[in-house]
Amino acid sequence: MKLSQGNLTILDSCPRLFQHTVLEQLAVPQLGESWEKMQLGSQFHQLMQQRSQQLPIEAIAATDPDLRRWFEAVDAQSADLFPDAGEAWTDSEHVRTMDWMGHTIVGVYDYVVLRSDSAQILDWKTHAKPLDSRQLRQSWQSRLYPLLLVSSSNYSPDTIEMRYWFFQGSDEAQPQMLRFKSSAAAIAETTTALTQRLTALNLWLKAYELTGESFPQTETRQTCATCSFAVRCDRVNTPLMESDLMPLGTAWDSIAEVALTKFP
Ligand code: SF4
Repeated sequence: MKLSQGNLTILDSCPRLFQHTVLEQLAVPQLGESWEKMQLGSQFHQLMQQRSQQLPIEAIAATDPDLRRWFEAVDAQSADLFPDAGEAWTDSEHVRTMDWMGHTIVGVYDYVVLRSDSAQILDWKTHAKPLDSRQLRQSWQSRLYPLLLVSSSNYSPDTIEMRYWFFQGSDEAQPQMLRFKSSAAAIAETTTALTQRLTALNLWLKAYELTGESFPQTETRQTCATCSFAVRCDRVNTPLMESDLMPLGTAWDSIAEVALTKFP
């Protein structure tokens, strides 16, 4: 099956949730403010795609003052992000895949700047930068995207960098950027983690297909508190367990956080 970083994140969060949303395609409603934010994020992605293809952006930028402000912040870095042809190759909504253990792992990068000796993978986040950047560094997206590029190109791990741009909703807030440089050790750790997850997934899939056995439910009951399937899973108002209070592992500390930059 095709698996994205989002699918792997769900699988880590709760295998049963993966069963419901990825395998069975049960819809989770997106309403109100979160729907509006998703729309704005989608418009911004479209705007950046048009900019990278040198197509007109005015009609989209005019629909919301935040969109225009975010676009102007990115465009101020145009020498780096939109280099002349011949200096670098750029692409938006850039797809990389890797076949692994019977699955196709897919990454859709918001934007890439590929030079002969280095690669930037950019991601536009239309929300504020997280207070704890370590969580983002440990995310499947930060781990998987460099791996997909390494496996499908001649770039060595230490020439690849993930750059997250965060755009906040308030007029005063300026975009911020987080940069994570990859390394051979990080790529090796990601490969091991991916192999472990897919080994488990293949076992659960086999049982599901052969006998109809459901995927296991998360042991972290805190996850159920905000889950749309709490009733179906009989996890409504379940007491917290000690494991809910344990800190997350730090297996990805080896991925260097290069810098935290606040643009003027
Ligand atoms: S309610 Fe809990 S166990 Fe059920 S799918 Fe959601 S997170 Fe998983």
